[in-house]
Amino acid sequence: MSWSLTNWHRNRILQHEGIADAVWQKLIHLRCLKGLSLEELLRLRECATLFLHDKKFYGAHELEITEEIRATIALQACILILNLDLDYYRSWSQIIVYPGEFMLDYDYEDEFGIVHHVQHAASGEAWSDGPLILSWQDALEPVSHLGENVVIHEFAHKIDMLYEGANGCPELHANMSAYTWHEVFSTAYKKFCRQVDRQQETVIDPYAAESPAEFFAVLSEAFFELPLVTQEHFPSVYEQLALFYRQDPAKRWR
Ligand SMILES: [Zn+2]
Repeated sequence: MSWSLTNWHRNRILQHEGIADAVWQKLIHLRCLKGLSLEELLRLRECATLFLHDKKFYGAHELEITEEIRATIALQACILILNLDLDYYRSWSQIIVYPGEFMLDYDYEDEFGIVHHVQHAASGEAWSDGPLILSWQDALEPVSHLGENVVIHEFAHKIDMLYEGANGCPELHANMSAYTWHEVFSTAYKKFCRQVDRQQETVIDPYAAESPAEFFAVLSEAFFELPLVTQEHFPSVYEQLALFYRQDPAKRWR
């Protein structure tokens, strides 16, 4: 795990800034941590401690940032990079937490130069090289049976954005094929969009049909929150995600 820390500095952070036992015991039952071995849990706790050292939390609407809020977000953020590297969350430091859903209100210019005004309620938002925004209420409780996890969703966007912008394809490892990734993801995405267009019931959040970037973020949520369902319904996507995240959550769940 790098992040350009000297061993001395790293050990000092782990010794003095570790997640308190009481908070850890409470959070160890998070659904996305199910089945992790003791060694993996220890590494996750260390990873979250180093993550918390690097990130600054701000409470919006007078929300008081507690240790529980910081640790809940850190542990779920770090499950994605447990077998990768903290550098996946480099180049930005702010995490803004609202008590509940918040309003997004901004203008953006599309590829044809037309300016659009966006205004809607959101439970999370990730800006490239900028802050990550979360609703605490949504970070704490899953919304439905569809495996939603807003923390995993937004951090998956951060990982995706690091390489060629948010397009649903993060920087792949040397043992992976970009061709296979694109084939697998675009085939599954088109099939899923057809299902949503026909208003058929879906096993994951239909929001995944919004764009390839959202498909990657929602499938990442499902990969960790509903691994058996994801493996059953999206076997090729599951395989690619297992190669990318270097984890096999379905195996942990069996
Ligand atoms: Zn999203």
